[in-house]
Amino acid sequence: MKNKILAKKDLPKFISKLVKEYDFFAPVKKEEGILFSKIDKADEICLSYSNTKNSVKEFLLPQSEELFRFVKKGNSNEITDLKRKKRQSLLFGVRPCDGKAIAMLDKVFLENITDSYYKSRRKNTLIIGMACNEPGQTCFCTSVEGGPFSIEGLDALFVELEEKHLIIPVTKQCEKLFVHLDNASQEDIKEAEELKKNAEKRLKPVFEIKDINKKLHGMFESPIWDEIHEKCIKCGICTYLCPACYCFDIQDETIGEKGCRVRNWDSCMFPKFTSHVSGHNPRATQKERWRQRIMHKFDYLKTNVGDYGCVGCGRCVEYCPVNLDIRKTLKDILESK
Ligand code: SF4
Ligand code: SF4
Repeated sequence: MKNKILAKKDLPKFISKLVKEYDFFAPVKKEEGILFSKIDKADEICLSYSNTKNSVKEFLLPQSEELFRFVKKGNSNEITDLKRKKRQSLLFGVRPCDGKAIAMLDKVFLENITDSYYKSRRKNTLIIGMACNEPGQTCFCTSVEGGPFSIEGLDALFVELEEKHLIIPVTKQCEKLFVHLDNASQEDIKEAEELKKNAEKRLKPVFEIKDINKKLHGMFESPIWDEIHEKCIKCGICTYLCPACYCFDIQDETIGEKGCRVRNWDSCMFPKFTSHVSGHNPRATQKERWRQRIMHKFDYLKTNVGDYGCVGCGRCVEYCPVNLDIRKTLKDILESK
């Protein structure tokens, strides 16, 4: 697949066409910040953003999702599957870190055990990334095996050049979107390579993460966990905004004989996350919850699916109300004896 070129002045026309064909989601400037949202018109898109406040995981794994309905009939239940939408979604302007998180979520939800709800959304969604020419202050993707121009998890990557966008198609599914565009020249490709080099220079790894999972194997009882969690107020913001956190809870909501099964996001930072019906809680303190968050992201996931549960997007660093910084935690772990 050849790289393509789209003049900046032609971007609104290009988007307007796609908005008619897809449920189109892109970064939009709102009161709360830049949020990934559904758009109806090209001029709603905001392309001056370091990253969106929310990640795109909510379009594949919604914060709250009705799975099916049931009604009691004698001793059994009659189940009604809900109709899923057929229209394809297109996520435009996804940063490479969030694309990498989707690649990891695909392994969790589609390999070994398939989650049919995730699967139906995923196969109905195209993901177009936007390279990070100017990474933000809290970004650290290169420290966790990512990069500002990574194509992992994406169907195509846009690179913003001086007067045009270079488009790198990645999968066959999105090739048709760009077939009418001109091929990129050698100069365009060179300009994009220069931008990539500069972005990577600004994002030099802040620690050497290789083999952190092996190190963490022996750190379950380490005194390091005694202090790391101290300031945490258990708000769960870090996990809700994280593109790579995917824990959920499933509950039945009933009225009389009828009900529905609902899946909602949950967070390992919440005290009741592991609370048993008996009242026993195996992770009774925030120290144990923080240890679980780090162990899951940097040991269990790496060991089991080959990816970290952190893509260095920096959201948890930027939005933690008490300024807990996962980069410092990782440095402390890596430097500990
Ligand atoms: S955002 Fe900060 S305070 Fe809130 S749960 Fe996460 S680490 Fe704790
Ligand atoms: S742990 Fe923090 S920095 Fe890493 S992906 Fe999640 S929100 Fe981003």
